[in-house]
Amino acid sequence: MQERYVMSDFVLKTANLSYAYPGGSTLVFKDLQLKKQEHTLVLGDSGSGKSTLLNLIGGFSYPHTGQVEVNNQVLDELSGTSLDRYRAQNLGFIFQEAHLLRNLTISENIQLAQSLAGLAVDQPSINDILRKLQLDNFSSRRPNQLSRGQIQRAAVARALINKPTLLIADEPTASLDDKNTFLVIDLLKELADQQGSTLLISTHDKRLKDQFNNSYILEA
Ligand code: ADP
Ligand code: MG
Repeated sequence: MQERYVMSDFVLKTANLSYAYPGGSTLVFKDLQLKKQEHTLVLGDSGSGKSTLLNLIGGFSYPHTGQVEVNNQVLDELSGTSLDRYRAQNLGFIFQEAHLLRNLTISENIQLAQSLAGLAVDQPSINDILRKLQLDNFSSRRPNQLSRGQIQRAAVARALINKPTLLIADEPTASLDDKNTFLVIDLLKELADQQGSTLLISTHDKRLKDQFNNSYILEA
């Protein structure tokens, strides 16, 4: 019983993770454990393995060794549609480039995230999160009618709409100027706190270190 209680304190646990690209060297990751509602920065130069690590944690690729546990579920034990469903319900993912579908409006892109998680479309919640991100006047625009900062805020809205336990953002500010960088980081922290999400953000930007209590440093 004691053991189970301790386990449930963690939203994420990685153990002995490594990944080998075909023909490349093997990347080895020290263990990472995140508690509920913590904010953690993954800091490393270009090529140090940030995207590789976050893709393993998101279940987008399989580790060479080791395992990832999200909410006490080992990702390796899921596959296909059960993995897709688990990811949509438990994880929010923000990529360096927003990956919004360009034929859909901002509102429709977020509706799609709800549908993929098997949830009913909840337009009032969508309007609410768009308002918090100062996008309420842009909900019926398509991505190519928005600025980079607005697109990245729309990606934040999409990642947060299902109230994920764990929100993962891979260099979410890489394409933004200084003003938008700090705006997006502040919004991510504030919204994650409001909905009780744990936050894991990667960056090569050492200036962001001061904004976080916890950091996980990758050596290139
Ligand atoms: P980061 O996100 O920190 O810039 P990555 O995780 O993308 O780093 O890359 C880590 C290492 O893995 C780098 O040395 C990179 O060259 C290598 N790598 C990344 N993607 C591939 C790939 N598809 N094939 C071979 N090597 C790769
Ligand atoms: Mg990367």
